[in-house]
Amino acid sequence: MPTHSEIQTLLAEIEQNNPQTAPELEQFRLDYIGSKGKLKALFEVLKTLPPDEKKTFGANVNQVKQAAEQKYQQLKEQLSEVVDNTAAPADLTMPAQTTRLGSRHPISLFLHRAVSIFRSIGFQIADGPEIEDDWHNFTALNTPEDHPSRDMQDTFYIQTNPAVLLRTHTSPVQARYMKKNQPPIRIIVPGRVYRNETISARSHCQFHQIEGLYVAENVSLADLKQTILYFARQMFNKDVQIRLRPSFFPFTEPSLEADVTCFICHAKGCPVCKYSGWVEILGAGMVDPNVLENCGIDSQKYTGFAFGMGIERTTMQIYGIKDIRLLYENDARFLRQFAGSL
Ligand SMILES: [Zn+2]
Repeated sequence: MPTHSEIQTLLAEIEQNNPQTAPELEQFRLDYIGSKGKLKALFEVLKTLPPDEKKTFGANVNQVKQAAEQKYQQLKEQLSEVVDNTAAPADLTMPAQTTRLGSRHPISLFLHRAVSIFRSIGFQIADGPEIEDDWHNFTALNTPEDHPSRDMQDTFYIQTNPAVLLRTHTSPVQARYMKKNQPPIRIIVPGRVYRNETISARSHCQFHQIEGLYVAENVSLADLKQTILYFARQMFNKDVQIRLRPSFFPFTEPSLEADVTCFICHAKGCPVCKYSGWVEILGAGMVDPNVLENCGIDSQKYTGFAFGMGIERTTMQIYGIKDIRLLYENDARFLRQFAGSL
């Protein structure tokens, strides 16, 4: 049986043992408090003692145990507060951890480029609400109620108020701008539009358009043709040709659709141009005099042209994107591929 003096020696040993590091502290715990430590051994001895000796011996061992545990807790707190000096010093020559830079969305790339081309020939950006009223979206643009051409665009109406809708094109901004400004007017309108369409690989209920309007004295179809040609050559390449085909829009008369020689295969024939060598890029025409009058502009004095193009379709053709939904899913792996292009 350990004598009283042996217990005193153990107590002194604990008091003099001063671990300086986390591993040393752990060793301290194992030596004294752990399940194979010296205190555990003393408690084993305690079990074997006759009752009269148990009391004194037990009290002594408990005193040592409390001292050991108290010291362990105290040292543990101290060590957690100081920096561990045994760790390797920071390597200041290590390359910094970099945060990956974002990049512009392909839609934005196309829009920014188109906007800068039109701005270079004097067009200003105009903006308008995406929640529109029926008059600006349809009536002002020569599309009165019950006009069959309203069927051309499947519209999101607000159920409680049919006069409020999500704009189906960026053209209502033209009407808003003409009501407030007299010619000469030369604006482009980039923005988001909405159609009540089933979402698939080829169509979506939201997409982007860029719309242009030029109203002044003596504006003619020749000006429109040259503007489209200039845009196409700046946007795609300097050798593209354009082709104008007659078309119909309620707000322009005459109306046309413009094709460019395929910017993917250079008119040799490929899946994008369906082997025709031509790709449709926009619809346009001379602004219908009714539209000018609806917006308070003298149609005897002024003429104008307007054009509008869908951004998604051409963006998808340029980049070979097969599914329009990829443009809206915000998958960084997809978007990262376009960094620095256009
Ligand atoms: Zn082609």
